[in-house]
Amino acid sequence: MDKSWMNLTDRLRSPAYADGVNAFLTLARNHSQGSDRIRCPCRSCCNNLFLPIRIVETHLFLIGINPNYTHWIFHGEEETRRFNDDDDDSNTADYADEYIDDMNHMLDDIRASTSFDVPQDHGNPLATSGEIPDPSPSSSFDQLLEDARRPLFAGCTKFSKLSFIVKLLHIKTLDGWSIKSFDMLLSLLWSAFPDAELPHSYEESRSLERGLGFNYHKIHACPNDCILFWKENANLDECPKCKASRWVPNTHKAHRIPQKVLRHFPLKPRLQRLFVSAKIAENMRWHKEQRPTGEAILRHPADSESWKRFDEKHSWFAQDARNVRLGMSSDGFNPFNNMAKPYSIWPVILVPYSIWL
Ligand SMILES: [Zn+2]
Ligand SMILES: [Zn+2]
Repeated sequence: MDKSWMNLTDRLRSPAYADGVNAFLTLARNHSQGSDRIRCPCRSCCNNLFLPIRIVETHLFLIGINPNYTHWIFHGEEETRRFNDDDDDSNTADYADEYIDDMNHMLDDIRASTSFDVPQDHGNPLATSGEIPDPSPSSSFDQLLEDARRPLFAGCTKFSKLSFIVKLLHIKTLDGWSIKSFDMLLSLLWSAFPDAELPHSYEESRSLERGLGFNYHKIHACPNDCILFWKENANLDECPKCKASRWVPNTHKAHRIPQKVLRHFPLKPRLQRLFVSAKIAENMRWHKEQRPTGEAILRHPADSESWKRFDEKHSWFAQDARNVRLGMSSDGFNPFNNMAKPYSIWPVILVPYSIWL
């Protein structure tokens, strides 16, 4: 649907604007299921108010439609994910090529960042991390490079082994496939294309991805939350404060089971990865480099007063467009113990506020 009319300024005299408003209201009316009231998308109401359709029409002419409301999701336009937009038939080939190009750049960047990071990571005394086999960065990275160079099948120029797997995992995540259905698809692909370099299972696909450095560490914790068995406490069998045992009672020494485990997803490599892809890096800097200022619209945390005040106070931090701000959230707190089922997992989630999605 043509939306160029949304940016016209001569609203009262422009026939194109009037046609646009009509088309919009027809769509909205069909979507309203007989109700006379719809959300008003004018600059002042910003879809927050439900108003009679004729008032909305007046607002659209007198105040003007909010030009940032480009996907009319409240008025009957199907919400489309960016992935689908990018991937329609007309540009599938371009997209795939770009995808592989991107991956080569990304691998170059990862090589650069791992060569700097390795000494630091080895000095990190996460004693209990030994439970997850932690492949040495260089060997898993070499494997990754090899997979990135190997064509999916002899003569294939479009996909490498790695780019195909990454694409497949991407679709799995977007559409919420189960692991079982993913494995079924792989075995079908295997029987149809026996010469292709495909992984045998979801697990194998993930192990390729782990080469990118997205692993996590398990750190045991005191069952009463006093301490982590980490650093100077890494080798203790009981909590030095409350004397509670680190292990579930009566488990055999060779297969001792910890009472409580913290899963730590290291932040630094994840932040670095945000800047590894040229596209995401641009979105991470958008708040400083491309965000329109001077409009009374709150569309990104950077438009907020607290963000601006922080910038004033810490200008040395704010002046670099690559600055990252994180929001911390959690779930599962049970303040008055009034939930029927106590949570057994308490996620603590860091959200990068800087990114423009
Ligand atoms: Zn309005
Ligand atoms: Zn304790």
